[in-house]
Amino acid sequence: MGCLHNKIAVVTGSARGIGRAIAEELGSHGATVVVNYSHSKEAAEELVEVLLRNGAPHALAIRADVSDPAQAAELIARTIDTFGRLDILVNNAGITADHAMKNLSIDEWDHVIQVDLSSCFYTVKAALPYFTRQESGQIVNISSFVGEAGNFGQANYAAAKAGIVGFTKTAALELARYNVTVNAVCPGFIETAMYATVPENLKEVILKRIPLGRAGKPQDVARAVRFLVVDGEYITGQTINVNGGIYM
Ligand code: NAD
Repeated sequence: MGCLHNKIAVVTGSARGIGRAIAEELGSHGATVVVNYSHSKEAAEELVEVLLRNGAPHALAIRADVSDPAQAAELIARTIDTFGRLDILVNNAGITADHAMKNLSIDEWDHVIQVDLSSCFYTVKAALPYFTRQESGQIVNISSFVGEAGNFGQANYAAAKAGIVGFTKTAALELARYNVTVNAVCPGFIETAMYATVPENLKEVILKRIPLGRAGKPQDVARAVRFLVVDGEYITGQTINVNGGIYM
């Protein structure tokens, strides 16, 4: 029986990439996992099968665009309806729309802020009544080292990810009295579909900047999330960098 047995976890945007690795990590430690997806139904349902084979007592795929407040609320409500409680909320869903600011459109700014930052508020707001009633809960928000360091061509993404850090600290302050912890994880460059969009010549430059000399794996991030939810009961309002040393 895993150490997360009896825990119910929602991982947003978990049909692939880092979110998928987090879902697998929590599931293999015994958590019941809700796999949230916006479009990739097949991938989400395939992941549910994988989770059930690898130790999750239950798993369920729920479609919701978490950048829409009503759908984010519905994701949390369906989780509670189905499993009776919610213990772990991982806000992982994210997108990029990269351009230097002179070419960055207002729509691209708004969309990235909405998906990457506002979605965290929407899910947390929806989960609050349950967490406060239960007097327990753990929230992990996936930010990025770009939110700490900035990055050319990512003003929208950097602002959203920096916003997550401020949001995390404020939520940690407000929710501590209910025994709810709120932390952020800031990955560096991690080998996922998002990283695959980076041009090869730029990847070479990036690799030279990473002291550990390699991009991270989604599992590197997933293990940090697992640490926080398994062993992090006295950790709140913190930002954990999982970045190979690219930002210290
Ligand atoms: P990815 O593109 O592989 O996965 C993102 C997932 O989020 C996808 O499954 C996508 O469908 C989902 N998603 C997007 N918009 C959504 C919405 N509105 N509602 C629900 N789901 C939605 O990217 P990834 O690399 O796995 O990134 C996961 C998280 O990690 C993101 O928040 C990203 O910003 C962050 N991150 C990634 C890296 C990296 O190098 N890959 C580095 C730092 C931070």
